[in-house]
Amino acid sequence: MDKAANLLGIAVYKVNVHNANRSIDTTSLEHQLHHAVSQGKKYFIVIANMMTTMYGSVDDSDLYTDALQKNNLPFKLHIDGAYGGFYYPFAAEKNTLDFSNEHVSSVTLDAHKMAQAPYGTGIFLARKGLIAYANTKAGYVEGEDYTLIGSRSGANAIAVWMILMTNGPFGWYEKIFILQKRTQWMCDKLSEQNIVFYRHKGANIITIESKYITADTALKFGLVPDNHAQPKWYKIVLMDHVTLEKLMLLLADINDQKITPSLA
Ligand SMILES: *Cc1c(COP(=O)(O)O)cnc(C)c1O
Repeated sequence: MDKAANLLGIAVYKVNVHNANRSIDTTSLEHQLHHAVSQGKKYFIVIANMMTTMYGSVDDSDLYTDALQKNNLPFKLHIDGAYGGFYYPFAAEKNTLDFSNEHVSSVTLDAHKMAQAPYGTGIFLARKGLIAYANTKAGYVEGEDYTLIGSRSGANAIAVWMILMTNGPFGWYEKIFILQKRTQWMCDKLSEQNIVFYRHKGANIITIESKYITADTALKFGLVPDNHAQPKWYKIVLMDHVTLEKLMLLLADINDQKITPSLA
């Protein structure tokens, strides 16, 4: 978003979230809105997240739209489903982050995340009537062009098509169903060991407070930190290859390191 704003020459205002439950801090939201208005901003593009990459947290877009409407500020609402677009709608069918919400103008989802397609398979969906504003037709090219990067590989689109056709909607539901079960299993085990973690109930990401994870465990299991220099959290992403057998080894390792803390 910083990159996009830089490119478009527009300002970015960031809203804080609460540390433990990752929900939007409405005081910070009000503050940022007033700050933007005081700087002369009249129109807003809100980005609400359908699963953040680190926490799997999902924004309550109503908090944004209610605040903007209350202040009579015109806006467009974009949903960043880069990570969650191929997961969350299958885990939480009823949600406000799709076109059934009249405020949603556009949605992005990446096939190169959960759908495991090759890189460069981001998908942009706009509400009917809006896509024309993204048309950047070049005279010498036959057909339409709606992208910033222009020419790109058609093989990528075929790869996405093949992945989707191979699974089918029901196959995809089953895949997500299994991952949801596995994620819940892991959450239950962590709770039994009194380990503090964050997980949104419609997500396959578990983010554990770093004090429960030694550097040795993180390295051995390839756990991803929120910050490589000073990790506060480590995450596990539950995917096909992250089996219960592997999770059991991780749980045992966390437990061992707790009983005999490493001298390193
Ligand atoms: C990966 C990701 C992005 C960036 O998208 P790319 O298409 O991979 O550059 C943006 N938002 C979220 C939540 C992501 O997970």
